[in-house]
Order: sequence, then C-alpha cells, then structure tokens
Amino acid sequence: MSAQTRDKSAETKAYLISVGGVDIDESVLGRITTPASGPGAGLTSFFLRFDGHRVRLGVKHSSRLKASFEGDEVVIRDRDKEIVRGYLEDAIAHCPEQAYITVSEVCIFDCQFCPVPRLGGTVKDRKDVESAIERILGDPKLTGKLKAIALTSGIEESAQAEVERIAAIVSALKAKYDLPVGVSVYPTQSSTRMLKDAGADEIKYNVETMDRQIFKKMCPGLSLEFILRALKNAVAVFGRNKVFSNLIVGLGEDDESIINGLEELTSIGVIPMLRAAVEHPLRAQAGMRRPDPERLLRLARKERELLDKHGLRADVAQTMCAPCTGCDLVPHRDV
Ligand code: SF4
Repeated sequence: MSAQTRDKSAETKAYLISVGGVDIDESVLGRITTPASGPGAGLTSFFLRFDGHRVRLGVKHSSRLKASFEGDEVVIRDRDKEIVRGYLEDAIAHCPEQAYITVSEVCIFDCQFCPVPRLGGTVKDRKDVESAIERILGDPKLTGKLKAIALTSGIEESAQAEVERIAAIVSALKAKYDLPVGVSVYPTQSSTRMLKDAGADEIKYNVETMDRQIFKKMCPGLSLEFILRALKNAVAVFGRNKVFSNLIVGLGEDDESIINGLEELTSIGVIPMLRAAVEHPLRAQAGMRRPDPERLLRLARKERELLDKHGLRADVAQTMCAPCTGCDLVPHRDV
C-alpha cells in the first residue's frame, strides 16, 4: 500500500472514530460486543476490518453513517456517499483475538467520564475467569484465534484488594495457558511487583488526562502524581514497550496539554493510548466532546513522532488495546 493510500485510510479510520456510531441491523452482526469497562461500557458495538485497519463502531440507529451488506462486505455510507467497505470481525471476548475480561464491573470511585460505577455490573472470581477462557478454547469456531488474555477491573472494595485478586488470577492463568497476559488496574504501592511476580507480561495504569486541573475535576479521590510514579516504576520492572496508559482526548483539554502529556509519558518509557472521549448517556453532565478527525490524526501523528524520538514501538505489544487498535489510531499500526 502506498504512503498516500495509507494516509487516506488512516483519515477514514479517524473519521469513523470521531463519529463513533453506525446505523446497522444488529441481527446480522453475529458476535457483537458490549464492553463492561471503560468509557464505552454498556454500549453495543462491532468490529470492522478495512485496508489493514480495525475499528470498533458503536451501534447507533440515529447516526449519520449507515451500514449495509453487499455480499460479505459491509459498506458504510455517509448520507449517500460511500465512506468505506470492509469485513466484520468477530470479537472473542470484548475484542478480536483476545479474551479481554473485566473482573470487577463495579467501582468505588466516580470518575466523571466513566459509566462503570452506574452500570451495577458483576464481580468475577478466578473460577469465572477460567471458565470464560475454557469456553473460548472449547468453541470450534474460535480454534487458533485466541492470542492473548487481558484483565481489567474497576475497584470493588479497595485498590489493593483488587490487585491481590487480579494477581492470583494471573498466576492461575499463567500456570494453565501458554498465552501472554496483560493487566490494566489502578496502581497501588505493591501492584507492579505483585503483578510481575504473578507472571503478567504487560501492564496498563491509566492517567486518563495529563491536565492536572481536569484530572482533579474528573477523577475525585485519585492521584495523577501517584499514577505517574507507578508508571515510571512499572517501566523499570516490566521494561520498555510493555507499559501503557490511556489518555482521553475530549475532556476539555487543549492540544498543548495532550502533547505535553505525550512527551511526559513517552520520556519515561510509557506508551500512551490516545482514546477519543465517549459521550456516554450515563455521563451526559460530564461535558465531554468527541474529538474531530483532524484532531485525532494530528495528535496520533505527534504521538508517533514522540515514540520514535524516545525509541518506543507501539506495534510490538501483545495484549490489550495496542494490538487490538479498535478504538484508537495506534502509532506504527494506523499512522
Ligand atoms: S482498543 Fe482496547 S478498549 Fe477498544 S476494543 Fe480494543 S481492547 Fe477494547
């Protein structure tokens, strides 16, 4: 694919992410996914593959984008203009090629962009997680497709209790399956060491925003400086290209704040995942704004520049969002 075609298809992906939802007949989607964690939790979505990219799109019947089938292909049109054609991709558990499992679908914190505390989900134990993996491995339609396991979690009782529970699950999974395991949790003083000792391969502690004022407003009770110290320590323990952090675009910050945040994270060896804010119906008061495609592309290209400057690669990750790419423009993969 020429650089020009690649740029054009990245622009298409940026546009699809920025609109976020597509009007499509859910009955033909097959294995759809309703994420249990993160800003899109509780919203139905599906995965589309096109021109070497993958994108996760919400099902939204009021969207300006309409999808229809032509044979095996899905064609997405904006009013009557064709935007893209591609193929549906099945999610295994939450996303393609991974079992990405939310252990505690509840949270004692109340980050203003996150619907999880308002969804009243369930809490899984080790057996629940193992049964989910066994079901996937026993499904003949998924033979050979499972490449990684990822665990994420809200906080049921305390951050430390959550980390201890996840570490025990990671240990059990690593003893049973020859698959890389990634973990995304809120850090504690001992979480990095515990999760590494349990056998986790990659780790994610989300900063959510690097704008200190917005962080205070959006994440009451959490500490950005503590998360940053934990990220730095995680790079020392897990190594470069193995530590990730979500940075949301659209919480009211400006580009300068994002770019400074990207520099701060990449300079300590962390790979940021730039995530478009989701205007979730359960968080209508939070004042989030889905970024436009030009902003998404501009910031993703800037991130690539900074990763290159600091000798980091986003395309060697094995677990979680960097190899999935469904929600983001991932440097070295999409741009
Ligand atoms: S990019 Fe991350 S949050 Fe989005 S679908 Fe993939 S694994 Fe889930």
